[in-house]
Amino acid sequence: MAKTKNVLSPKLSLILLNIFIIATIAAVANAGSNDLGSRSSKTRRPWPFKKLNKSVVLMISSDGFRFGYQFKTDTPNIDLLISGGTEAKSGLIPVFPTMTFPNHYSIATGLYPAYHGIIMNTFTDPVTGDVFNKGLQPKWWLGEPLWVTAVNQGLKAVTYFWPGSEVPKGSWTCPKRYCPRFNNSVPLEERVDSVLSHFDHPEDEIPDLLMLYFNEPDKAGHNYGPDDPRLTNAVSRIDKMIGRVIEGLKKREIFDEVHVILLGDHGMVTNCECNEKAIYTDDLADWIKIPAAWIQSYSPVLAINPLWGENVENQGEKNAEVVAKMNEALSSGKVKNGDFLKVYLKEKLPERLHYSESYRIPPIIGMVGEGLMVRQNRTNSQECYGDHGFDNKFFSMRTIFVGHGSRFRRGKKVPSFENVQIYSVVADILGLRPAPNNGSSLFPLSLLLPFGATREIEYEV
Ligand SMILES: [Zn+2]
Repeated sequence: MAKTKNVLSPKLSLILLNIFIIATIAAVANAGSNDLGSRSSKTRRPWPFKKLNKSVVLMISSDGFRFGYQFKTDTPNIDLLISGGTEAKSGLIPVFPTMTFPNHYSIATGLYPAYHGIIMNTFTDPVTGDVFNKGLQPKWWLGEPLWVTAVNQGLKAVTYFWPGSEVPKGSWTCPKRYCPRFNNSVPLEERVDSVLSHFDHPEDEIPDLLMLYFNEPDKAGHNYGPDDPRLTNAVSRIDKMIGRVIEGLKKREIFDEVHVILLGDHGMVTNCECNEKAIYTDDLADWIKIPAAWIQSYSPVLAINPLWGENVENQGEKNAEVVAKMNEALSSGKVKNGDFLKVYLKEKLPERLHYSESYRIPPIIGMVGEGLMVRQNRTNSQECYGDHGFDNKFFSMRTIFVGHGSRFRRGKKVPSFENVQIYSVVADILGLRPAPNNGSSLFPLSLLLPFGATREIEYEV
């Protein structure tokens, strides 16, 4: 009879078991965070933390950081962000064309180039004849970049050489203190230290959004190609700069509070100026002669704007004839490397490229094979180097994405995604109302922990 007093009811057993499991999970969670070395018992605080008392995003772009460069050499600092944060498992997908200005501005606005207006690094406005060459006239730069969204809604933003950030727009005037003028000779160390110095200001002056640009390893990639030891040195250098960022944040006891996003704009592939790797438009002469004056860009994107003259009618039909004749030549088997170039009316380009809805895009676009180049005629050059700008379906054009900070899960890998999604992610972290953009409004949910959640939640689910 009395024995029953010592036997726990099934319900009570379950409660005790749950308490035991929760305690064990908490112990494991704490052990895990100590292992990262970034949270001593002295600095561990419940979220939201007290030091900054607001969400802060520091986005760092490493130009031309091809996905996979992190495996070329030891990158302990990038690895630390990856192990403590969320990584795009197979890299970040750039927008087409996979060039620097279109991609940096897509990251900033969440818009494809056809909608933000920077359709290439350089192009000609077909209506006015004005040439865009990375200039700062506001008329070229459409859409609403993150720094504008931030200041329009009362937050503070700092940009350091991010393409497009010097253009005045909305409430953003690019004040010198928060928006230094582009000068690629400024050492990377100075860029990092300058950005970090904003965290030493009085609390109400600390920016909410900081966007920092490194021009490497793109420069080394172009000069030497992606497989040269000098490129590997440039990757090491970027890792050291990430280390400098991490150390600077740790010294200020805010490494766990600042959301650090490390990404790139595109990848890099070997390109050789030689007959084996080139397609010559003069080789199409038996089918159609393409005047050099029609060609705005040869490669990695062949962009043709036929100059028919105002009196010629049915220009659309004539453009279609040019495309048909070019493709007939290229698929004839008689044009060297013809299989590696396909020509489209821009309206007929694959939809996945989102590259038609702008009058600035020339009417005829040629998609060039990975690592090949288009030229008018043969030269004796045999030089090899690196290039990008090709179809964004090529793996070599992918770059990195890592997010670290309280809204990013630790050690999480997510499938590759397009960089137009990033605008909404940053807006979500900062509590901003996003401007209309090409990303999915649901995407931040798939990448981020809910606002106000603690990172320990991930251990309970
Ligand atoms: Zn670039």
